[in-house]
Amino acid sequence: MRFDILTLFPEMFSGPLSTSIIGKARERGLLSVEIWNIRDYALDKHRTVDDTPYGGGAGMVMRPDVLVRAIEAVRGDSDAPVIYLSPQGSVFNQQMAAELARLPRLILLAGHYEEIDERVRQNWVDWELSIGDYVLTGGELPAMVVVDAVARLLPGVLGDASSLQEESFQDGLLDYPQYTRPANFRDLQVPEVLLSGHHEQIRRFRLKESLRRTLLRRPDLLQHRELSAEEREILEELVQEYSCEGRVNDDEHHSDH
Ligand code: SAM
Repeated sequence: MRFDILTLFPEMFSGPLSTSIIGKARERGLLSVEIWNIRDYALDKHRTVDDTPYGGGAGMVMRPDVLVRAIEAVRGDSDAPVIYLSPQGSVFNQQMAAELARLPRLILLAGHYEEIDERVRQNWVDWELSIGDYVLTGGELPAMVVVDAVARLLPGVLGDASSLQEESFQDGLLDYPQYTRPANFRDLQVPEVLLSGHHEQIRRFRLKESLRRTLLRRPDLLQHRELSAEEREILEELVQEYSCEGRVNDDEHHSDH
């Protein structure tokens, strides 16, 4: 898969996209990332990329002539979608990452300053993606977030593909808690069942903890998901536990109960 990123700050990308799993995957040719400097498409002698907004107001607006020259040069005659990273876009999630991972090529446009000219957004942008309801100084970090989330779903990028099956959001639930050695750390014990070697009990324990986490931290996820008979049974157990306790465990700080 190929990612093209249009940005005013190419130097921001070198660390995150050259390190660890994504860096190795690029070295192995499983994906490629091309970074394009939008300023290279400014033709005046000062290489101006922005200007003041028509109608007045704070901040600078990225010029449409420069942006469109950059987009057209990078896209060529391919039909790769142009994705503008914007807080006004659809909020990016795991399902979108999986859909994007099926495409051969994505062109990501990172904005900066106050905004890009609206005419670019309406005529040269296919989709807008936000990484959350907050405003960042630029689209560079969001572009890296999208590349990372999509790239790790590509075949061969993760050493053990089964880890994809078992993580948060993949099956509509948050992941279960994980433990490693030592089994007793400062008198904090790993749950007994995980040491038992009993696969069926471990599977059920993990499913229950996954459901517990989701119920306490992200109950909204359960509303959009069909539950199996076993999951319904476990949820009933959990509801019983909490109604007996009368309150949610103190360790579940993230609960919005
Ligand atoms: N004035 C814009 C607005 O209110 O929608 C915000 C512009 S922001 C300061 C500058 C650039 O950062 C945007 O053009 C966009 O590319 C990027 N950006 C900021 N927050 C973002 C977010 N949550 N998701 C994706 N991109 C974001």
